[in-house]
Amino acid sequence: MPSDYFELMLRTLHLTPEERELIIDKRKKQCICDMCPTYTSCALKQKEEGAGGTTVEEEGPTGGKSEWTLNGECAFCTLGKSACIEKEVECLCSTCPLSREMGLRYSYYCTRGVETQQKIRDVIGVG
Ligand code: SF4
Ligand code: SF4
Repeated sequence: MPSDYFELMLRTLHLTPEERELIIDKRKKQCICDMCPTYTSCALKQKEEGAGGTTVEEEGPTGGKSEWTLNGECAFCTLGKSACIEKEVECLCSTCPLSREMGLRYSYYCTRGVETQQKIRDVIGVG
């Protein structure tokens, strides 16, 4: 397996749609964002506004069960920023199995974008 996440992302460009779907599905299952205070605050905001949300049917990898998700939003490290989350409270990404497996270095993917976006901003010195 490539040691660099960017390299892996490039490799995924050559995957078939089915293979890509399998990878995304696996990442969604590994994702622990639904246990994070940052994620929950956004979910609660949506709930209060009556915007709905989807009840998570299956048990997550940590054994927890979320009450709400936002249109299935998760795995921000791979899929990009949230359409809703704005306030950063705490990030649990460093404790996520996927983060360890992939050697991710950044955090707050829901508000700051995927690993490669953050890496590029770091390199060119844009905050
Ligand atoms: S690293 Fe963060 S965003 Fe990515 S799957 Fe894990 S908890 Fe979710
Ligand atoms: S990306 Fe980090 S801060 Fe955002 S919801 Fe997931 S664990 Fe929390």
